[in-house]
Amino acid sequence: MKKISIIVPCLNEQEVLLMYYERMTKIMGQMKDAEFELLFVDDGSTDRTLELLRQLNNKDARCRYLSFSRNFGKEAALYAGLEHAKGDYLVIMDVDLQDPPELISVMYEELEKGGYDCVAARRVDRKGEKKVRSFFSAIFYKILNKISKVPMVEGARDFRMMKRKVADSVLRLGEYNRFSKGMFGWVGFSTKWLEYHNVERAAGRTKWSFGKLFKYSLDGIFGFSTLPLSISSYGGIFFCGLAFLNICILVIRYIIWHDPVQGWTTLMCASFFIGGVQLLCAGILEQYLARMYMEVKKRPIYLLKETWEDDIQI
Ligand code: UDP
Ligand code: MG
Repeated sequence: MKKISIIVPCLNEQEVLLMYYERMTKIMGQMKDAEFELLFVDDGSTDRTLELLRQLNNKDARCRYLSFSRNFGKEAALYAGLEHAKGDYLVIMDVDLQDPPELISVMYEELEKGGYDCVAARRVDRKGEKKVRSFFSAIFYKILNKISKVPMVEGARDFRMMKRKVADSVLRLGEYNRFSKGMFGWVGFSTKWLEYHNVERAAGRTKWSFGKLFKYSLDGIFGFSTLPLSISSYGGIFFCGLAFLNICILVIRYIIWHDPVQGWTTLMCASFFIGGVQLLCAGILEQYLARMYMEVKKRPIYLLKETWEDDIQI
């Protein structure tokens, strides 16, 4: 009998946690040909999430949990989950029921049939989501797909079921700045995409502010492409050419019309513009440098304060 581990990151999810558990018990009850482990990762919640997880673990031994010493982010929670899950097949899903639990049995059948190493879910619409958010998300995927060699599927969720070997491969990418959507593309393996319509959060609120999403999108861009770095080199060449052309024009104007150079405004505009471009290029360098700095430090991706079993190494 195959064992399925379901990894569920939770940050302040007291409103929805038990609802999720109820739905999952139904699904687990229906799938009699598999054994289950629900591995919750408490990402430094400050509400009753951890307390509820302890209760669930007492009540149902299939419910296990890891608890972080503080909020390390969803990516860190996924990494910890993949590290500690014991199943043959591993599932990543959100606790807010936006990832339809019914898809788990479809994913399981697909993997059992053979032919695929991974089955992932993708939203075909974003009904119910804020328009601005969908707009920026679409732009982000367009840019990322243009500048990165790793394919990123628009609308892809983190919701997926994978074989052990895929999870082990992702774990081998031990980087500190993590961007799962890119990592799953990077490791390869054959993936089947299941499409579904967007579902709104069952309860509670989204944990992603616009700022957090923006930072996350930068992780995607700078983590999976070095193209922005070439902007400074190409930009440099372009502006040198432009300056040279300008000098030629001024010299010719002076020789033919004896026209003295005038235009304080033009000069100021040009110097502000070039200053801006230089700062932008320095900013791009800074993005890579800051990430390298964090990688070089080799700090752990997460720290545990408590788990469901006592002898686990913290
Ligand atoms: N989450 C987490 N750590 C964070 C932010 C989110 O573990 O720092 C979890 C959260 O509890 C949920 C999942 O990641 O299970 C997705 O979060 P959310 O539903 O807030 O994101 P959205 O669906 O709005 O993108
Ligand atoms: Mg959600």
